[in-house]
Amino acid sequence: MVRDARYDILFEPIRIGPHVAKNRFYQVPHCNGMGVRYPESMAAMRAMKAKGGWAVVSTEETEIHRNSDFRPLNEGSIWTDGDRRAFERMTDAVHAEGALAAVQLSHSGHRDAGLYSREAPFSVTSHPVNAFNYPLQSRQMDKQDIRDYRRWHREAALRAADAGFDIVYVYCRAHSNLNGMFLSRQLNDRSDEYGGALENRVRLLREVLEDTKSAVGDRCAIAVRFTADDARDREGNHDLAESEDTVGLLSHVPDLWDVNVREWRLDSLTSRFGPEGHQEDRIGYVKRLVEVPVVGVGRFTSPDMMASQIRRGVLDLIGAARPSIADPFLPKKVEAGAIDSIRECIGCNICASADETMVPLRCTQNPTMGEEFRKGWHPEIVPDKGASASVLVIGSGPAGLECATTLMKRGYDVILSERASEFGGRVARESRLPGLATWKRVLDYRLYQLQQSGSVSLFEQSELSADETLVVGCDHIVIATGSAWRADGLGRTHRTHLPVDNSISILTPDDIMGGGRPDGPVVIFDDDHYYMGSVIAEKLALDGLEVTLVTPESVVSAFSELTLDRSLIETRLLECGVSLIERHACVRGEDGAVHLAHVLDRSRSPRIPCRSFVPVTSRAPRTALFDAIVAMQSRWADHGIRSVSRIGDCVAPSTIAAAVYEGHRWARELDVPAADLIFRTEAS
Ligand code: ADP
Ligand code: SF4
Repeated sequence: MVRDARYDILFEPIRIGPHVAKNRFYQVPHCNGMGVRYPESMAAMRAMKAKGGWAVVSTEETEIHRNSDFRPLNEGSIWTDGDRRAFERMTDAVHAEGALAAVQLSHSGHRDAGLYSREAPFSVTSHPVNAFNYPLQSRQMDKQDIRDYRRWHREAALRAADAGFDIVYVYCRAHSNLNGMFLSRQLNDRSDEYGGALENRVRLLREVLEDTKSAVGDRCAIAVRFTADDARDREGNHDLAESEDTVGLLSHVPDLWDVNVREWRLDSLTSRFGPEGHQEDRIGYVKRLVEVPVVGVGRFTSPDMMASQIRRGVLDLIGAARPSIADPFLPKKVEAGAIDSIRECIGCNICASADETMVPLRCTQNPTMGEEFRKGWHPEIVPDKGASASVLVIGSGPAGLECATTLMKRGYDVILSERASEFGGRVARESRLPGLATWKRVLDYRLYQLQQSGSVSLFEQSELSADETLVVGCDHIVIATGSAWRADGLGRTHRTHLPVDNSISILTPDDIMGGGRPDGPVVIFDDDHYYMGSVIAEKLALDGLEVTLVTPESVVSAFSELTLDRSLIETRLLECGVSLIERHACVRGEDGAVHLAHVLDRSRSPRIPCRSFVPVTSRAPRTALFDAIVAMQSRWADHGIRSVSRIGDCVAPSTIAAAVYEGHRWARELDVPAADLIFRTEAS
């Protein structure tokens, strides 16, 4: 295959200060849950991006000094020369692929609490710290503090240049960074030359940019990461005129503008709340005001969209965090004309949840993400097949699909058998719920690959009995039959079933996804705390039903805080007219009402009228087929069966990412001797 001429523009080299990016694909800074704690893992992950064709590969936010310590988050740290050496692994690997390495230096002001260093952070003003609502306020910086900060930033820039970085970032975001806090009209209440008029508020950012340029500008390009819609008027609306003036005041200083939108949850917007390219209307003005290159993001996976952004003068470089996580080889695939083989990001933000839970990055679409160092996994290369020849995979949800696809790539003969009339399991069903259409990419990417292969037989509407599986004639059987939402209310709150009398119908999320239509009023009991309760509520409210969502947590969709869209979910539910009742559990349903109990004070027990009750509490693994085949183990050898395994939700119901990972892992490890399976650890 050859590159489509429409995409030639994406492969033009771009000068950035003293360096030249070989194309317009730019992996912008993104956190990854590795950073300072798992530096080998971080370097190997970045190296994979460089191998995949990204012209620039950046670090995550990187602490410049102990006064700004982001811990317990696993971000980067370049406090000392020792830290510098950890980054040399990354820069060497990135340079080996002909890419440029960038580092995002940062001081987070009053965002973090200095929990490791035990130094009270300083900031533009004395402000309560954001992290954990920790009972600590920053101290307002005096002139000596400002001088210290500038010196620390300069010294960190010198260490970064010595570590081999080609691009050094100066970060500016009001909610998370000192330079942005000084720039913010809302946060900066100073009366000295760093406060008041815009020219004063921008002073620190300009000084730090100029310091960095004078320190390392001969060796490195200087980038500013600028939140293009941070400036706010009194009503909280974007003050475009002030943003434009800010860019105008600085336009001559940096070699590159990396632009994004305010707050991480809006910058890394989930696909449920915004489409690809959603930032364009808020960042587009910057390119008109500056002469140097501009990079920006937008969950870009479509090369048509990327080329259009460049042709229309929105951006010069196509920035990506999530698309580069889902497919580190995206640039090389565009270059090779292999567009159909791009593993497109689905916008679910499981990647962000890893950073928030302080563990190495993981991705729904790319099961190898985060495993480059510790398991030696490569997203595009799998080992050749081993001694056995064929595998029967039963169930085509994310686990079965990924397992079959990886087995096929390794060279095995694969039979994929699916009971339903469509492939995809939960992703096929869930992607029909409001806002989740993009999730179908998990199915589309894999099914396309399976359909191209001569060694794969795909059967839908095929439910094999245990006896029948034995006579299919495959060496191995993998059960990926998924799970079903429970109707009895068992979950985190209830360990015995939740009694509901005949006056109320019970429908599970599976019933509703299968076309079941409840009668209103509907009560949803969300004891799961991820997206399902909210998305069912949204669907039913959009269908015109009166919906109440009850959760024992303090907030709806509590887990979704980690995928950054919890507050957007709550807002959406309120807009749809869903009534929200927090800190209560549903305890029984009788006489046309659901009875609630406050989680701490059971004497507070309101009743809500209800004709349909939807428990979203937990899922029951579907193990019947596996159990039946295991019960016939004495007959396996007669039929040449060497193993029977189960993977995904039928073992331990979890995220789609977990099912994809387990499917991949089983397929990658088949016929590999246990002694050859590696799991490298890192001293931290
Ligand atoms: P996972 O997330 O583990 O991949 P899913 O629930 O998404 O699980 O998918 C499981 C798939 O297995 C569903 O499409 C379901 O229809 C299918 N399935 C369940 N039982 C059988 C069976 N006995 N034979 C074939 N397919 C089955
Ligand atoms: Fe995209 Fe989801 Fe992967 Fe993140 S986890 S890169 S949002 S597919």
